[in-house]
Amino acid sequence: MRIAMIGTGYVGLVSGACFADFGHRVCCVDKDEAKIEGLNAGRMPIWEPGLEALVKSNVERGRLTFTTDLAAAVEGAEAVFIAVGTPARRGDGHADLTYVFDAVREVAKVIKPGTVVVTKSTVPVGTGDEIERILREEGVADVSVASNPEFLREGAAIADFKHPDRIVVGAEDNHAQEVLKEIYRPLFLNRAPILITGRRTAELTKYAANAFLAVKISFINEIADLCEAVDADVQDVARGIGLDNRIGAKFLHAGPGYGGSCFPKDTLALLKTADKAGVDQRIVRTTVSVNDDRKEGMVERVERALGGSVSGKRVAVLGLAFKPNTDDMREAPSIPLVTGLVARGASVSAFDPVAREQAEKIFSGIEFADDAYAAADGADALVIVTEWDEFRALDLERIASSLRGKALVDLRNVYDRDEAEDAGLRYYGIGRGRIEAS
Ligand code: NAD
Repeated sequence: MRIAMIGTGYVGLVSGACFADFGHRVCCVDKDEAKIEGLNAGRMPIWEPGLEALVKSNVERGRLTFTTDLAAAVEGAEAVFIAVGTPARRGDGHADLTYVFDAVREVAKVIKPGTVVVTKSTVPVGTGDEIERILREEGVADVSVASNPEFLREGAAIADFKHPDRIVVGAEDNHAQEVLKEIYRPLFLNRAPILITGRRTAELTKYAANAFLAVKISFINEIADLCEAVDADVQDVARGIGLDNRIGAKFLHAGPGYGGSCFPKDTLALLKTADKAGVDQRIVRTTVSVNDDRKEGMVERVERALGGSVSGKRVAVLGLAFKPNTDDMREAPSIPLVTGLVARGASVSAFDPVAREQAEKIFSGIEFADDAYAAADGADALVIVTEWDEFRALDLERIASSLRGKALVDLRNVYDRDEAEDAGLRYYGIGRGRIEAS
């Protein structure tokens, strides 16, 4: 199959490289010239495990190419995937579909009859209908429009793409269904479930999935707050409920609140869809505000650990990316934490194994350290914000001796209180018994 992938970001690049690896001929398009120039020179625009090798091997086999020339990529393609960003629109939280519709208008100029246009971007219900309308308006006939939302996770994107829990295809005609089944045939043969639905259903399924996961995270975060008030341990509560198959153990890790490029914007967009449809979604609405409050509230946890104020104190922050194994800083919990600490008079030294370059675009007036120990040197408190593997096996005695104050604020519950206290640290986890001020 010949595929054009429009948008070469986290989703477009990973999907394009994986489709090429399945044996298809994929041309990835982006309007960001620097990104395409870099890719053509073998430089990855994002940090994602395994991506560089996958891209390299498929480029060498001649199955994967990169261009800024959309017309050239779409010409001759049997399927045109749209994987551009759909960020929250400033001010109202609606999904901003400008990039999607701009791409569709460009595609309309060159697309041939029989081609299938597939939205891989996360788009609100009815976007496929609107794409059809735009194509008609531009004089395009005999083109199918399908929805194929993507469920990969950054940090494990290639494995997720190649071993998905399911593939969702929303298609209104047989031709689109057949083309998508053919594209995913290698996974089909691996028995990955392919769910064929109506287009609107597929569009909504993606939002429902992300909203449900956001609810699950917020649920355990509130249980963690309760644990702190009643002297219980949320890690054990999570295990106790997660072993129940009806509940499942995943997404039950209490922490600083969810961030990233998807959950925050997708929950807001779902609420906008619900508003428009006149159907309130109270659970999701509450989840959004619980999570916003939680992220804002993390700075107070550090204050509590430092006796009520961070003014004039030095705080070491470990992990800035919104989760491990990515350099993505979008909506990261580190952002309100670090800016809040600085606003309240703390000085911050931060370390992240890969997100420094992205973080430097966001934070000013903080120091970036070269490793965890350098960040901790002379600080009053060490705060673990992102649970990178390399933060799971720190030499806590070394940390304790480099810290001036001895507070370990573990927002990811990476350590046990006992091991931290044995190393000479005061331990502040999330939901792990009663919190006492220093
Ligand atoms: P991204 O910002 O990393 O990449 C989008 C790319 O599209 C950018 O490189 C941009 O330059 C390019 N682009 C925009 N308009 C273009 C045009 N007209 N022509 C060519 N290129 C254009 O975004 P992302 O994180 O890959 O997300 C893409 C979509 O996938 C979003 O809808 C997102 O919600 C969804 N999604 C993301 C993830 C994830 O983990 N990042 C997971 C599942 C779904």
